[in-house]
Amino acid sequence: MVSFLTYNGGMDAYNPWHGCHKVSEGCLHCYVYRMDGRHGKDASHITKTSAFNLPIKRDRYGQYSIPDHSTLYTCFTSDFLVEEADAWRNDVWAMMRARPMVQFIFFTKRIDRLEVCLPADWGEGYPNVTIGCTMENQKRVDERCPLFLRLPIKTRWIIAEPLLGPLDLTPYLDDRIALIVAGGESGPEARECDYAWVLALKAQADQKQIPFHYHQTGAKLRKDGKLYAIPRKLQAVQAKKASLDT
Ligand code: SF4
Repeated sequence: MVSFLTYNGGMDAYNPWHGCHKVSEGCLHCYVYRMDGRHGKDASHITKTSAFNLPIKRDRYGQYSIPDHSTLYTCFTSDFLVEEADAWRNDVWAMMRARPMVQFIFFTKRIDRLEVCLPADWGEGYPNVTIGCTMENQKRVDERCPLFLRLPIKTRWIIAEPLLGPLDLTPYLDDRIALIVAGGESGPEARECDYAWVLALKAQADQKQIPFHYHQTGAKLRKDGKLYAIPRKLQAVQAKKASLDT
């Protein structure tokens, strides 16, 4: 997730809370758990952070620290819809509403919780909030996509990362999906990602004229039957070199 921020450059991270608990297959080697584990921290302990008020923080001249036209990648060391943050989330929705010229993007594996987490004035969705629904295998596609399409959201992204197998998104692709992102898994225990799965997703996106972004190869990339170990620092670089983005 951190490399996604780096790739896009100039965009800010906003983590109002930290920590999470695992909900599906894609969580197995969760980055947050790996990073916290290195520092002897328990990532399942979910806490509010000191950055909680970042979107409305002002400097000593009274100016917002996050200027208009910024993008805030929100909750990348947790899941925005994690149950333990229910008591805090309304304050974040209020900050999103207070900063209509700032784009907020969050990814979730808990799209089934969105409806009960929405603020009263959500309507058809805040125009400045993009929601990425993560789906790592076909089981999660078929479970999450119908719900994702039904919910009131202004901008929807499909996040196929870590991609754990071939996906057939075609029953769910139409102009309600603004972007498809694909990527492999990182870390020492990463599971393989077959380049053919990425190409198949790209073809599905092209067929429906949906923009596509190949975020990163993952640590173990299989291509034409051969397995390649890709160092962390080259995973986004190699994906970019594939020139699949539209
Ligand atoms: S939902 Fe995301 S942050 Fe939470 S455990 Fe799974 S991968 Fe980690």
